[in-house]
Amino acid sequence: AQDFTGQVITVAGLGVSGISAARALAGLGATVIVVDGGDGEKQRATAAELEAAGISVRLGDGETLPEGTDLVVTSPGWKPSSPLFAAAAEAGVDVIGDVEVAWRLRGPDAAPWLAITGTNGKTTTTQMLASILAAEGLRTAAVGNIGTPIIDVVLSGEYDVLAVELSSYQLHWAPSLRAHSAAVLNLAPDHLDWHGSMEAYAADKGRIYEGNTVACVYNVADKATEDLVREADVEEGCRAIGFTLGTPGPGQVGVVEGILVDRAFVENRQKQAQELAEVSDVNPPAPHNIANALAAAALARAFGVQPASVRDGLRAFHPDAHRIQHVADVDGIAYIDDSKATNTHAAEASLAAYEHIVWIAGGLAKGATFDELVQKSAGHLRGAVLIGKDRALIAEALARHAPDVPVVDLDRTDTGAMSEAVREAARLARPGDTVLLAPACASMDMYLNYNKRGDAFADAVRELAAQDQ
Ligand code: ADP
Repeated sequence: AQDFTGQVITVAGLGVSGISAARALAGLGATVIVVDGGDGEKQRATAAELEAAGISVRLGDGETLPEGTDLVVTSPGWKPSSPLFAAAAEAGVDVIGDVEVAWRLRGPDAAPWLAITGTNGKTTTTQMLASILAAEGLRTAAVGNIGTPIIDVVLSGEYDVLAVELSSYQLHWAPSLRAHSAAVLNLAPDHLDWHGSMEAYAADKGRIYEGNTVACVYNVADKATEDLVREADVEEGCRAIGFTLGTPGPGQVGVVEGILVDRAFVENRQKQAQELAEVSDVNPPAPHNIANALAAAALARAFGVQPASVRDGLRAFHPDAHRIQHVADVDGIAYIDDSKATNTHAAEASLAAYEHIVWIAGGLAKGATFDELVQKSAGHLRGAVLIGKDRALIAEALARHAPDVPVVDLDRTDTGAMSEAVREAARLARPGDTVLLAPACASMDMYLNYNKRGDAFADAVRELAAQDQ
């Protein structure tokens, strides 16, 4: 494990990962300075807590590099183009993320990492994997973008294996990470404003395969993921394993007559395929989620997990809130909260799951375009209600590709807009329809995060139900 004692480390960003990194590194004997461009009340309170623990905090300036810095540890959200990193480059100082710090802190007997990235499905798949590993009796945790900060988990030394969710940002800042096995679930345009281009985004995602020792898991239906495997430099003997919703070929996992089967890690040479679980063991058994389950199963099998544990782990798994969550039925109309659909690729998956939809969408587009999404989903749309800052982009795409679909453009970005959006959606919907919040956009123009946006939707649906009585 790397020794950080005596180093002067600048931590960029006073968020969850920054605070965890700062505390851990200070605990390891580094001199830590946290910098953040913000200077609000909440930040000052956090700063005071850190300062009490011997950590310096500089608020109101996230751009200048503190004198004497040996290493910069950044929070994932900071853009590579941030002036602080230009200053670091100028001074010959490395910039890494909290995942890289965790990786460098691993001792010789540290738990191997099974890593997961992709544009959508990361959290779900990582939690499914952790559930499967736990069913096998292994000490494990779902970490990375979720759960306990990864540095804290690694330092605890209490695990046999980790299920690690990695965002493209985290991969960008984790140059020496080498997973046991890794999966890229899918690849669609997202966060292009951060990465600069689709190529740069894909290259950062592809980093997850570098140096894998046992398996690189890819999506047969998404050739871009397979290309990333081909371009990766892996250890000798590491295999490329595809997952597919169709019948698996040799070396793949897939679905045969409602059964998830493994044709990649079959111990018994007499057998061509190993049955793992039934499609109905997956919660919910929507196509995109079965794909997530297959990817999790492939990683677990690469780690040597028994088939029965895959089944038990999938059965024990339940998705987090705001991911295609059924809120209520009011007047025969189903209200579904998929606030977590923060990009067009995710929204496409949920819009494909229902027949007649009144779609509530809008927010921060993050550089996305909506033509393809609207073209693919137009046949399912009963109507659309648009909210948030970049709603005009969606309105224009609807006008181009679905001119007959009634659109209510709310021209609102206040938090109260959701109540009106739900009432408007209820007016457009007919019994048997689904009102679906799948914004295809980030939430930060109106809400603190997608959880709050989903909560606002659920509150609005309850209001509607109450008025109804
Ligand atoms: P992430 O951690 O990558 O953001 P989540 O598991 O939280 O992914 O799911 C995010 C959203 O993406 C969900 O709301 C769901 O609708 C959608 N989704 C989940 N899995 C997939 C998939 N394999 N393909 C497309 N969309 C998906």
